[in-house]
Amino acid sequence: MVQKNLIDGEWIAGSEAFRNINPSNTNDVVGEYARASAEDARAAIAAAKAAFPAWSRSGILERHAILRKTADEILARKDELGKLLSREEGKTLAEGIGETVRAGQIFDFFAGECLRLAGEVLPSARPNIGVEITREPVGVVGIITPWNFPIAIPAWKIAPALCYGNTVVFKPAELVPGSSWAIVDILHRAGLPKGVLNLVMGKGSVVGQAMLDSPDIHAITFTGSTGTGKRVALASVEHNRKYQLEMGGKNPFVVLDDADLAVAVEAAVNSAFFSTGQRCTASSRLIVTEGIHDRFVAAMGERMKGLVIDDALKAGTQIGPVVDESQLNQDTDYIAIGRQEGAKLAFGGELLKRDTPGFYLQPALFTEATNAMRISREEIFGPVASVIRVKDYDEALTVANDTPFGLSSGIATTSLKHATHFKRNAEAGMVMVNLPTAGVDFHVPFGGRKGSSHGSREQGRYAAEFYTTVKTAYTLA
Ligand code: NDP
Repeated sequence: MVQKNLIDGEWIAGSEAFRNINPSNTNDVVGEYARASAEDARAAIAAAKAAFPAWSRSGILERHAILRKTADEILARKDELGKLLSREEGKTLAEGIGETVRAGQIFDFFAGECLRLAGEVLPSARPNIGVEITREPVGVVGIITPWNFPIAIPAWKIAPALCYGNTVVFKPAELVPGSSWAIVDILHRAGLPKGVLNLVMGKGSVVGQAMLDSPDIHAITFTGSTGTGKRVALASVEHNRKYQLEMGGKNPFVVLDDADLAVAVEAAVNSAFFSTGQRCTASSRLIVTEGIHDRFVAAMGERMKGLVIDDALKAGTQIGPVVDESQLNQDTDYIAIGRQEGAKLAFGGELLKRDTPGFYLQPALFTEATNAMRISREEIFGPVASVIRVKDYDEALTVANDTPFGLSSGIATTSLKHATHFKRNAEAGMVMVNLPTAGVDFHVPFGGRKGSSHGSREQGRYAAEFYTTVKTAYTLA
């Protein structure tokens, strides 16, 4: 059965469909999904536009109830949805279930936020005049998401968009339509009026582009590659629309001589290789001071030997496959580039055979890397990390900040002085002390600076900045 697109409250098959393939076993077809056309995208935008006046004035209890019901169903079905996610994306079942629970928590959080909408009442600078500051929804929000967090990223964009009274046109990544379809189905059954949330699965170059080209989309929130992010930005400037971009990272993880070695190795392995290194917050630059360098590299090698890379759904798997062939080729190309550049492949990097045909890659660790090499400057987005040797903390901080990106930045140290200085001086949106660079909470701001992000922060109460517009009203008493 083909899972359809949702346009104006109707499930629409369209004329084409595509297959969702399991990267752990390419013989396994997860499902078939309708491929929307540019015309379908335009119909979805028109539906969202028509639904906006009523939804933007809907009562907070109605919005609360729908988001709450959605949270409850996602959490009740966490095992089934987590399995679907792992099957289509390739992260381990524990990670898939964890991400599904996160999506439920996000809907729960924004269900609560509907009940906490507030403004400000102030005296005017002029006598006998009152000033009110309120937040209003932006309008039709376009949501374009990547493949690496198939349920959490859609959740953290859809939940606030609906909470603050916007209507939505949602285009998930074509590689992982299953989890997105499932949450749209849940929201639809939870009672959203027709046209408030529209799902258009299909190609970015067609459906996504139709969204970018539409004057009727008032805000676009995007997570994905830097290249596509730039297209979103240029098109948004053209249409004078609000936009928010979360793009790549080349996140540093600094290990100082005084670090607890076990803590440093655990955080580095998690940062670099968990979720197959396919997290925008993953660390691919391990910047290590010379006093601990050799012990750190040896301990990393030992730890990496024990990693279990296998079918995402198999019990005991710690790292699943790469998401698809093209990403696998990108990873192995960078491994070849690293060797050509003169870095030493100290561990891993080879393709693995398992019981089923899949995109299995042994996580790779380079040593003797410099920060000038392409493997240190460009986002690889796979389980490939490099160790860069530095003299001391000052050099470590300089190298950590010497990157076009600025999403997450980590340090392993037992020194309060260095931890405090690093928190203050790391050029990143998020800083982690003795913790992996990846792994964030849902109720606090998420985002970066420099080439990693543009626009206001996502998640938590900070999400209101993007999904609302502020009005200042003056009244003569
Ligand atoms: P893309 O930027 O190509 O895709 C992200 C989303 O944008 C997808 O939904 C995609 O659709 C859509 N899209 C593609 N082209 C357009 C367009 N012209 N107009 C509007 N939307 C468009 O990233 P990929 O998923 O292809 O990943 C490529 C690389 O990006 C990765 O190797 C990685 O380096 C980086 N990446 C970074 C992420 C992060 O969180 N920082 C997340 C994912 C990827 P479609 O379904 O056709 O792909």
